[in-house]
Amino acid sequence: MATVTDTAASTAPGGHAAATAPAQETTDGFHLVIDALKLNGIDTIFGLPGIPITDLTRKAQAAGMRVISFRHEQNAGYAASVAGFMTGKPGICLTVSAPGFLNGLTALANATTNCFPMILVSGSSEREIVDLQQGDYEEMDQLAIARPLCKAAFRVLHAEDIGVGVARAIRAAVSGRPGGVYLDLPAKLFPQAVDAEAGRRSLIKVVDPAPRQIPAPEAVKRALDLLKGAKRPLILLGKGAAYSQADAEIRALVEKTGIPYLPMSMAKGILPDTHPQCASAARSFVLPEADVVVLVGARLNWLLSHGKGKTWGGKSSKEWGNQRFIQVDISPQEADSNVRIDSPVVGDIGSCVSALLAGIGAGWPKPPAEWLDAVAERKNKNVAKMAETLAKNPVPMNFHSALNVVRDIVKANPDAILVNEGANALDFTRSIVDMYKPRKRLDVGTWGVMGIGMGFSVAAAVVGGGPVIAIEGDSAFGFSGMEVETICRYDLPVCVVILNNNGVYRGDEKNPTGGKDPSPLVFVKGARYEKLMEAFGGVGVQATTPAELRAAMEEALRSRRPTLINAVIDEGAGTESGRITALNPTAKKK
Ligand code: ADP
Repeated sequence: MATVTDTAASTAPGGHAAATAPAQETTDGFHLVIDALKLNGIDTIFGLPGIPITDLTRKAQAAGMRVISFRHEQNAGYAASVAGFMTGKPGICLTVSAPGFLNGLTALANATTNCFPMILVSGSSEREIVDLQQGDYEEMDQLAIARPLCKAAFRVLHAEDIGVGVARAIRAAVSGRPGGVYLDLPAKLFPQAVDAEAGRRSLIKVVDPAPRQIPAPEAVKRALDLLKGAKRPLILLGKGAAYSQADAEIRALVEKTGIPYLPMSMAKGILPDTHPQCASAARSFVLPEADVVVLVGARLNWLLSHGKGKTWGGKSSKEWGNQRFIQVDISPQEADSNVRIDSPVVGDIGSCVSALLAGIGAGWPKPPAEWLDAVAERKNKNVAKMAETLAKNPVPMNFHSALNVVRDIVKANPDAILVNEGANALDFTRSIVDMYKPRKRLDVGTWGVMGIGMGFSVAAAVVGGGPVIAIEGDSAFGFSGMEVETICRYDLPVCVVILNNNGVYRGDEKNPTGGKDPSPLVFVKGARYEKLMEAFGGVGVQATTPAELRAAMEEALRSRRPTLINAVIDEGAGTESGRITALNPTAKKK
């Protein structure tokens, strides 16, 4: 444990050691926070120093922790949250009070929405003054504001309680359905002195922070009975499945049953997208046609059209299809959120899938050949159509010709982590670029949030080891672009590719009045984003052809140097709102 010697007790006036008073070892709030985190295997902090946590960042680094300092707290928060997704340990984001705290809050709410374990630790100003609303420096009742946006929120007032506060935050973040947790640490806490031995004894090493949750045998039997009778079964893997790290069990479930599967965006790569049972290329066929769907760590939210409507074979947007659902999820409240779940299996995915596998012996019937053939036929047709589109080489480049290069590069570098955000840049990348390994695709998640790009990239490099390829829309990049300095400062192997079409969605909008102001949807034409990376010592490249893009990406992966490639594409490429035009009924049609 880090301790400080109480010099008042051990040093006589004038600086001479007193003969009689023995040195008393004390520690303080700063060191107890650091020791509590380290005791629980947390070795990295993403944050931004300032009052009152500046010294905490210094002391954490001095104590051997990795402290990654950002330019904006939102990006540090996104980094922490995705570190939590990748590792299963809560990612820590450290901020200053009020404005810094608020900047971190979007990421905290996003973590909770996505079921990512994260702890936002914010310094705060003095309780006495905040509670009497006397106007302290950066006064704000942070705990009250954070509470509705996270799974749990705690405040620690006494240094002796730091161990409990950190332990509770860790348990809340990773147990059951993971999520965001807020930990409020008022400025006065940090310098509080505590006897070193008492401090040591107050810390808690959390035992079994994410306990296994074994499903009930009758729930497993109900699921197997339903699945056995299926004529057109489908397995749908969500990012909860990726998070659970039950990769071998999930693969065994898919392969032993022979059922076609669909990965949600961040579940791509649990099995390689090139797996013969992957039905991604036949998505719009299998969803309405399937009769029994096994949801594994995926919610029937808007990303799956709420489990109803035309996507699922319903005649209207409100009508349910004819599917029967088995839902494997750690949250007992998830079932029936949108449509009837005939067979909920509640527990952690590893335990649930293992229990299902135990009932799937050698005699388990393979899905009927008509179903498998129909899926294969549809898939092959769509794959051939896509290959044709990808083979084209238009001038200027478009999303397809640029992403054809990215597809090849990811295939050649399956350990690279792909970060992806944008509208069209997101939708096209998701469908064109195959993933080969689990938890290698990190994207905008449940909210479709813009701004995760550089924060996720930093975390992917720091926690995931990189290399990282960030495929960014030019608009999406703008939300976190200043973090290229962070990427350069820590010399991270991140290759940012901006698919630059000069605007939000597209770059060819005009001001309808003919006035001087540009359309709200367009940016500076011909912007040289690559110079941003050069400004901080990284590599900047402008690429106007697939060949230039390929050469620049290959060099970035070879050198592992921070690189930004400004991939100039047709400003007329793309559609408003990408693939979710249906959510934007007044969208301008191309
Ligand atoms: P996607 O967007 O990929 O469909 P969602 O975020 O909607 O995925 O769903 C993830 C689901 O996974 C959530 O309902 C969550 O409760 C569940 N989940 C997360 N971790 C686990 C786990 N370890 N075991 C079981 N379910 C989990």
